[in-house]
Amino acid sequence: MKKMQTIYKIEELKPVLRGLKLSGEKIGFVPTMGSLHEGHLSLIRRAAAENDIVVSSIFVNPAQFGPEEDYEEYPRDLKGDSALAEAEGADFLFAPEVRDMYPPGYRTFVEVRELGEGLCGGSRPGFFTGVATVVLKLLNITRPDVFYLGQKDAQQAVLLRRMVHDMNLDVRVEVLPTVREADGLAMSSRNRYLSAGERESAPVIYRALSEAKAAAEGGRRDVRAVLGDLEAVKSSAHGAEVDYIEAVSVDELVPVSEFSGPVLIACAVKFGKARLIDNILVNCEKL
Ligand code: AMP
Repeated sequence: MKKMQTIYKIEELKPVLRGLKLSGEKIGFVPTMGSLHEGHLSLIRRAAAENDIVVSSIFVNPAQFGPEEDYEEYPRDLKGDSALAEAEGADFLFAPEVRDMYPPGYRTFVEVRELGEGLCGGSRPGFFTGVATVVLKLLNITRPDVFYLGQKDAQQAVLLRRMVHDMNLDVRVEVLPTVREADGLAMSSRNRYLSAGERESAPVIYRALSEAKAAAEGGRRDVRAVLGDLEAVKSSAHGAEVDYIEAVSVDELVPVSEFSGPVLIACAVKFGKARLIDNILVNCEKL
């Protein structure tokens, strides 16, 4: 197995990666907030298969957490993560400190208009500005050829792809499928917040999304009717509180009233203190 190097300092990582790039190495980058699970590892594995050098970052980004959110409690396990990332073929683990990413006097934020306002942006104001800002910084630090994202965070993927395009960044964005537990629950670092009872109920999210997809692809076109059925399934689940369920166009993320053409059904559901998100594509395979 290749030995992975963990680097904490921005100014240490940059020259190493610039040197590798100059000597012709292709760099794949996987940004994460750590607490790695099979979803993250699928991205690292793919990056290792498609690139000469794989960089993964672990940074719990304070700029994307609201004041009432779980920044402090968010699970952190750098040691465990290092072993997992190395085993999947990462060459560098970049784990910067908050004071280096946002030093005193930090003033610059990236806003991707409109795409960050609906869906999760509705209940998490400022969230996508925090995401776009940190990802642009990480892309500038690592300058990868390709960077890998999960469909699990579909709105994030659409918005970051747009940022890359709008900012003329020379990087290819690759969005990979959501990795799920055997019962369909999308893997997430936040699943560990679930009580035993909530964990048992949580697969209802993916069951409901799958039912909606089957109905839509089977010919039911009326979004309101199909999503109405979804609400019924969810409210019957133990402790579930639906934040939103929406059907939107895959490119602009605007609400649609009919299932015609490619549509993303996305939802956020709270189980106790865990706010879980998931989504499914209708009439298309890939974001
Ligand atoms: P996070 O650490 O939650 O910020 O996620 C880092 C990256 O891993 C993002 O691109 C996520 O979309 C992706 N990711 C998280 N969970 C999954 C999953 N279950 N399947 C695939 N990708 C995932």
